[in-house]
Formats: sequence, C-alpha cells, structure tokens
Amino acid sequence: MPEIRQLPSHVADLIAAGEVVERPASVVKELVENAVDAGATAIVVELRRGGMGLIRVSDNGCGIAPDQLPTAFLRHATSKLRGPEDLGKIGTLGFRGEALAAISAVSRVEIRTRRREDPAGSALRLEGGVPGDVEETGAPEGTTILVRDLFYNTPARLKFMKKDSAETAAAAGLMQHLALSHPDISFKFLKDGQEALHTPGDGRLDSAVYAALGRDFARTLLPVKGGGDGVTVSGFITQPLQGRGSRSMQTFFVNGRFIKSQLLTAALEEGYRNQIMKGRFPGCVLAVTLPVTAVDVNVHPAKTQVKFAQEKAVFDAVYHTVLDCLEETSGTVPPPAKPAGEASNPRGDFFRSMDAKTFREQSSAPPPKRAEARPVWNVEQRGPRLSDIAPPMGKEPLRAPFPPLRQDAPPSVIKSPAQARPEPPAPSESRPAVPAIPQKTAELPGQEALTPPVPAPWRVAGEVLRTYIVCESEEGCVYLIDKHAAHERINFDRLKAGLEPPMRQTLLTPAAVDLGREEAALLLENLPLLEDFGFSCEDFGGGSVLVREVPADLDAADVTATLEEIAGKLRQGRTPAERREGLLHTMACKAAIKGGWKSGPEELRALAAKVQSGEVKYCPHGRPVAVKITKYELEKMFKRA
Ligand code: ADP
Ligand code: MG
Repeated sequence: MPEIRQLPSHVADLIAAGEVVERPASVVKELVENAVDAGATAIVVELRRGGMGLIRVSDNGCGIAPDQLPTAFLRHATSKLRGPEDLGKIGTLGFRGEALAAISAVSRVEIRTRRREDPAGSALRLEGGVPGDVEETGAPEGTTILVRDLFYNTPARLKFMKKDSAETAAAAGLMQHLALSHPDISFKFLKDGQEALHTPGDGRLDSAVYAALGRDFARTLLPVKGGGDGVTVSGFITQPLQGRGSRSMQTFFVNGRFIKSQLLTAALEEGYRNQIMKGRFPGCVLAVTLPVTAVDVNVHPAKTQVKFAQEKAVFDAVYHTVLDCLEETSGTVPPPAKPAGEASNPRGDFFRSMDAKTFREQSSAPPPKRAEARPVWNVEQRGPRLSDIAPPMGKEPLRAPFPPLRQDAPPSVIKSPAQARPEPPAPSESRPAVPAIPQKTAELPGQEALTPPVPAPWRVAGEVLRTYIVCESEEGCVYLIDKHAAHERINFDRLKAGLEPPMRQTLLTPAAVDLGREEAALLLENLPLLEDFGFSCEDFGGGSVLVREVPADLDAADVTATLEEIAGKLRQGRTPAERREGLLHTMACKAAIKGGWKSGPEELRALAAKVQSGEVKYCPHGRPVAVKITKYELEKMFKRA
C-alpha cells in the first residue's frame, strides 16, 4: 500500500469544486441563486459558447462590501448561516458557502460589485481560486460576476463537456425554473448575444409562465390554489386532455426553490388518476409553501432535493388541490380521456392537416373499412402499416392485405382540395393495387422471397383482449402472440437494417410543437439523425420545433409524444451510436400497432406468419413476443391427461 498522505488543499478544493460545479449550468444556477438571495429585482445572464466561453451574471442586489470581497471566495464562507441552529430554518437559496469558492477554483473569475451606500465599487480577479488585489472601480449598484475558461485546470472534467448547444440548453432550462420560481424578479437570458428568455418580473406567475414556457403551454393550464396543515399550494396544472409524453413539463417549487421530488410528482399524478390517458403525464407549475422549519434543504450538494418533515401533509395538500381543481372544472374541460383502445388525438385537431391517411387509403386496395364520422387517424385506418410485413406463408398463395408502397413512390404526399398544388398522380396508376400472386409481393421492399417447403401457416383463431393473437399450429400447439411486441420487433429489425429510407408524410401545414427549450435544443442538435428516421424539423424559437415531415407509419396523434421521447433518448445517449439506438427503440415502438387497437384479420395473420417464421422472438426490450401452450399442457389443465 502506498503511504497515506493528506491531499494538498488545492487538490482537495478541486475535488470539492467538482461536486458543486458539474457543468456551466451549475455555475449559472449558483450565481443566479446568489443574485436572488441578494434581493435583486433584475438579473441578466449571458452565456457564450454554452458557458465554456463566458458566463456573466449581473444583478441589482445588495452588493458586497470591498473588505468582504476576498472572503466571499473562501470555502465555507457565507453570510446566510451563523450557527447550527440556522440549518433547520433556511430561507435563502444558498447557505453552504461553497459556490464562489468552487467556481473560482476551476475557472478565471472577475467580480465587480457596489453596495448602495458605497461611493465607489470594487473589483477582484481570481485565477484557479487564487485572488489578486481588490481594486476600486466604477460600478453600478449590485454585482456582476464573469466566469471564463471554465475547467481550464481540470482537463478530466473538460473532456466530458457536452456540445456547447447542450450546455446552453441545460442553462436555459435552469433559467426557466429560476424565472418561474421568482415571478417578482425580471430575468433576462442571452445566449451568444441573442435574447432567449425575458420575464417581466411583475410578480405574476402567469406572466412568468407565459414568458418562460410559451403561449401554447400557458393555454393548456388551469389555475389552482389550495392547501392545509400549514402547507399552501398554488400555481397551474394542465388540463387532463393536454397530457404530455414525459414529465419534463412538471415544475415544482418549495419555498421558492426549484426541486425534483417523487413525492410531489406522485401527488400531482394521483390527482389526475383516471382522468388522463395512460402513458401521458400532467404538466404543472406548482409552488408549495410551508414553514422553513418543516423542510430540510440540506440533503443534496446541488440543493435540488428536499426532505419534508410531514410528507403526508405535503402529499395531501398537493393531491387535494389538484383534485379539487379538476373536479371543479370538469364541466368546462373536455371529458376524461377515452380508453387506450379508442385513443384519439389528444391535441384535438392540431395535426388534422396531416394527410398521409388519404394517401394510404388511395394506395391500398381494398381501402380499410371504417365507420363514418370517426375521428381522423382512427385506429381502424392503420391496416396499411403492416404492409411491410412479409405476406403470410402458406401452401395456397395468400395475397398481401395491403400492398406496400414501392420505393419509387413519392416520398410524401400533399393532398387537399383546399391546396392549390397539383394533384399527385392517382397511386393506383403508378402501382398495382393488389398483387395477385406471391412472387409479386416478394419483390416489394421489406419482403423476402418464400423458400419452400414451408410448414402450414398457423391458423389464427382470433384475438383476445385486443392485444393477443390466438393461433393454432399444425401439430396442435396453441400460440399467444403479443401483437404490439411482435410488430415492435419487426419495426426495430427493419429500421436497424436501414435498407430502405423511411417513408415520410408531409404535413399540409407544418406543425409547431412546443417542447420546452432543453428538449427543443436537443432535437435541433440532432437534425441529421432525425432526418434518418423520417422527421424534418427546424427551429421555431422559444422552445418550439417546426415539424414539416414525419415518418409515414407514425400516428399523427403521437408526434408530440414521440418527439418528447426522442429528446429524452438524445439526452441519455452519450455517443452517437447510443443516440441512434435510442431512436431505433422509440421509433420501432411508436410505429407499432398498440395493444388495445383493433386489428383486421390480415394484420393478425401477417404478424402470426412473422412469428411462425422464427424471425421474431423477443421485443426490443427483451420481453417474449409469443408463448406456446402444447396440447398436453392444455389437457393437463383440464385434467384430461
Ligand atoms: P452561499 O450562497 O451559500 O452563502 P456562495 O459561495 O455562493 O455561498 O457566496 C458566498 C457569499 O458571497 C454569500 O453568502 C453572499 O454573502 C456573497 N455573495 C455572493 N454572490 C453575491 C451577490 N450576487 N450579491 C451579493 N452578495 C453575494
Ligand atoms: Mg450561493
């Protein structure tokens, strides 16, 4: 064993700094929190190159006395705590006295500050935590801190920095939270000289929500107010039908501090139970206020978690506030979500402009039957999406249920009587309606030639629970197939093989999808990858993405949720390969028929054939696609054997 030695203080400082300053966004967070604690009413944050070039935070708060300036940068130096008794009642955002020390340890810092009562301001520069001399200087009232060359002396950390745009997005997300938690402060956020956020600071939460989260999201909100047992809850929650594909639009504050809390999430979602569609999540901006002695904020170095003394009281306060609001407004909000089987577009007719449906109907013969006056994108129109599954195998040639689109088919179709564009040629002219013999179908993309001899195809006895296909094999075994899992696997393999470019559908009117700044930035950073999967998007500003084309086999109602999920996958993926894999999973799943959806007999047969062929055994998540029950097992169940 090598000798045990105490680390030199500058190494210890670097290690400690790493806990507080993980990335540029953590610097922004700490500096803005200091500005809030200093009583500022206006805070301006400027970022260059995602903060790796420069971070500047200016406030009009109380400022720092010249003789205190070097002290502020010492470890465990704070004006917010005096003794241990204060730890139990923290009313400020900061209290650990570590941020300025940590930030200055890993960067080059310059601070200028002036208190109202001081005739002149003072300035100080630090490099790697080592301060220069305090100098007198002209300065407006308040404090400005400049951070340059972040992590210049910690190459290991530098190496793990993400792209500038990812860092900007993280900082933007953070600014959103800070701005929402303090509607009484005007926040301005500039990235590379461009204004990305500006809240009025008029003390109204709705103004802050509108400015930070955008008009589209603000429109989906219902105001709430309630509480009990010393806990008050106020803010906004989304209407049940405006559920989101992820929890990214859930924002909670406890005593003015943005936090992540499973307890609060659970309380919110419990309030929506049975009102929101499965797989959708409510959004919210909820401020929870309770006595400072009833909450411990000192449980995490980044201070994003808290511990409540009375968890049940907090849960109940949030839950009842949400529930009361939803019950009260149930007369005015649209009725609760339909069961998944009848899933319709949760965004109303937002995507009605999508017209690939018409295309499919025309290119498929016979057109899928459907009841009149059903919503657009009714599940029963989904038959053609199985067109890329091999035709059923069998002795007698079975015709493909819906002929697949040929690769030379137009990549997208824009078709509407209202549009002045020329009508595309009738698809029936350009491709055969229904191939009559199997050889023809085998030529089409995604289909393989049949190799006789083949066993008799499983007989599809039917479908149960709108999810499982029941089949019987020649040798007397029963198979239950999970139709979603099977189709997901088929899609996954097809996408992974990447043999054909994805079919796309062009939206008649490009759709602006409001995702939140961080999500939007992630998507915009990965446009080429999205293109590979059939999405054509561009920046629409303010956390929105303009979508022009989507994969043809994606349900219109799923576009927003899919993009949200994709953003999540992009965030998780560290390498390009991981990100591509993440998208593969999402797209395979989203393009698959879902349990609960009604399937036609052709769809069921085509899926059964794929499973029978042995190509599809497990879904991409590793769950089995089919289970086999032998005749003997059945007989045993019925005590026949
Ligand atoms: P903490 O915020 O936990 O006290 P910091 O290291 O972030 O620790 O800051 C140290 C001290 O410097 C603060 O307690 C505060 O007194 C002072 N300070 C930091 N930033 C500002 C600011 N923007 N305006 C006024 N005082 C500040
Ligand atoms: Mg601080």
